[in-house]
Amino acid sequence: MTPSAPTTGRSWASIGQRFQGVRRTVLTSITHRSWSMPDRGAIKRSAITVWMVGPMVTLPVALGYAVHRRSIDPRAVAALAGGYVIAGLGVTAGYHRLLTHRSYRTTSPRLEAIVLLAGAMAGQGPPSQWAGTHTTHHSHTDKPGDPHSPHVDFDDDWRGVLRGFVHAQVGWLYEEPSPTTTKHVERIRAGSATVRWIDDHYLAILGAGLLAPGLVAGWQGVVWGGVVRMLLVNHATFAVNSICHMYGQRRFETDDESRNNTFIALLTQGEGNHNKHHAFPKMAYHGIGWREYDLTAYVLRWAEARGLITDVVKPTPVQIAERIERLRLATERRVALAAVAD
Ligand SMILES: [Zn+2]
Ligand SMILES: [Zn+2]
Repeated sequence: MTPSAPTTGRSWASIGQRFQGVRRTVLTSITHRSWSMPDRGAIKRSAITVWMVGPMVTLPVALGYAVHRRSIDPRAVAALAGGYVIAGLGVTAGYHRLLTHRSYRTTSPRLEAIVLLAGAMAGQGPPSQWAGTHTTHHSHTDKPGDPHSPHVDFDDDWRGVLRGFVHAQVGWLYEEPSPTTTKHVERIRAGSATVRWIDDHYLAILGAGLLAPGLVAGWQGVVWGGVVRMLLVNHATFAVNSICHMYGQRRFETDDESRNNTFIALLTQGEGNHNKHHAFPKMAYHGIGWREYDLTAYVLRWAEARGLITDVVKPTPVQIAERIERLRLATERRVALAAVAD
């Protein structure tokens, strides 16, 4: 051992401590609210970072390669478009409206499994975890305990708005699920052998979803139809958690900050009609009329007409009118209170 060895050891230790300090500061300021929730273990955190950053790096590299070659395999583009719709519908029609809210029933267990498998291929976690987290979101929307509210614990200045947005988009993924969510997950797992099977084979299903486009378009299929597709579908879904609780129209009075956002609805097969969804969580259709685009609702209508699904929960015109009236009264009350305050 040389005399300088302890000094080297100390300097490595101090570099390590400094790195941990920088990492903690960056994560605290960008993603986490306050470290009040325990964050996930090191392996899970690293996996989440690879899962998030990998596709973000892949997209510009793939684009640069396509521009450089002045060509892109049209089969890969088709795999991207087809995969986007299939995985997206797996999340909206499967994970969300079927598993979480039970807005309809499938007439065959095999169809339920197919829809949930498509959702698992999206890469947003096992079905019970997704549905458990979303159930907690509905029971604590924009209040303490909401896993991904952009409002709880954030200031109103631009820094707080930015931090809230990033937390709701991706930062919350670094936090350990709350006991409430864990209870929901256990209940959902206990209620369905199909869910348990998909949960237990989740990584294999995710991998198959990433690699399958390679069968039609080689490595470009894997890149565009697998990795880039996962990136786009996931951030579109996460934008419902962030943007649809920040920007858009409130058509119904709800006890939260949910919004209808047409742009996000276009990207998410209808999920962007999020104020409507919080007003009527169990309803299978998130869009009302042709103005509110909801591809998932069109698919569910088609499936119901062919006898593939039953017990589709729909809001009645009276229920919708009552909710709109509640919003009108609440708005009038707010205007009157503001006038008194002035
Ligand atoms: Zn919401
Ligand atoms: Zn929901």
